[in-house]
Amino acid sequence: MAQTIAVIRGDGIGPEIMDATLRVLDALDVGLACEFVDAGLAAHAKTGELLPQATLDAIARHRVALKGPLTTPVGEGFSSINVELRKRFDLYANVRPAISFPGTRARYENIDLVTVRENTEGAYIGEGQALSADGQTATLTQKITRRGSERIVRYAFELARTAGRRKVTVVHKANILKSTSGLFLKVAREVASDYPDIETHEMIVDNCCMQLVMNPWQFDVIVTTNLFGDILSDLCAGLVGGLGLAPGANIGSEAAIFEAVHGSAPDIAGRGIANPCALLLGAAQMLDHLGHVPAAQRLRAAIRGAIADKDRVTPDLGGSGSTEGFADAIVARL
Ligand code: ATP
Repeated sequence: MAQTIAVIRGDGIGPEIMDATLRVLDALDVGLACEFVDAGLAAHAKTGELLPQATLDAIARHRVALKGPLTTPVGEGFSSINVELRKRFDLYANVRPAISFPGTRARYENIDLVTVRENTEGAYIGEGQALSADGQTATLTQKITRRGSERIVRYAFELARTAGRRKVTVVHKANILKSTSGLFLKVAREVASDYPDIETHEMIVDNCCMQLVMNPWQFDVIVTTNLFGDILSDLCAGLVGGLGLAPGANIGSEAAIFEAVHGSAPDIAGRGIANPCALLLGAAQMLDHLGHVPAAQRLRAAIRGAIADKDRVTPDLGGSGSTEGFADAIVARL
């Protein structure tokens, strides 16, 4: 029976890169069916809501969604639709691979690492944010739980195991933030003891930033708390050529949403020149998640081939190709 996924085409360049991505997925012929639903500006225009209940229901029903970038207008209920989706479905693991593609203008070659970021707690969620009446003092509560730490670290080790990766680096600041980061590190050590086949390393976050720039090849899987992961995963995207090639998955026990890390790029929307690769790589993560691992590998190889041969690549990769032409070049390699 065909697996149905919820598809949100998104705003700005979203529809262009989604159409290209779906065409490539079609060529892979893994038996996926799509239910198209709306969120963001497209949903607002049709229904007056940014995140309609029908969209939430479709994600809950199919448990897997592929999502184009969304624009959240200022002052419309929530600060970010993406953050709202993470909350609604308790998508606790943000998984962002950073993989080098030969032929891009990246600063480094041969990088292959994954950042696993806790997505639901810690300073990033801004719990209890307040400014004193005199405007002189700002506060926020940073909460880390044993449950939140345990499930993200376990996710990282399981991912290492299933993806044939050998090493997990636990990134923290437990030397200074002894309660919050301290608890995360303590739980990480306990979980690590269940995975004797995987090497475990610990690294303080500031040193990790330096090590990523000096010697990124030493990393394999990085697992860390929400705010550190937010920053480190963008740093990792920068190592391998920027946001045009950076996919992300948001995974929970009830649902998973796959996406490109970049935004809706309003500056190039409608011109047919957006690079579809980040969303395509998000689709490859989705295929892995659905158990279509060989198809995911074929897709990554086809993307790698098209980029290496500079076959119809888009302007951000130094070519003069279109979104559609680039997708054709990838389809031709499948
Ligand atoms: P948003 O408000 O939706 O986050 P933004 O413009 O602030 O939009 P991005 O959409 O991430 O942020 O875009 C940052 C820059 O990267 C822009 O110049 C954009 O054109 C470029 N960019 C982003 N995604 C792509 C893509 N897929 N292909 C080519 N260029 C891209």
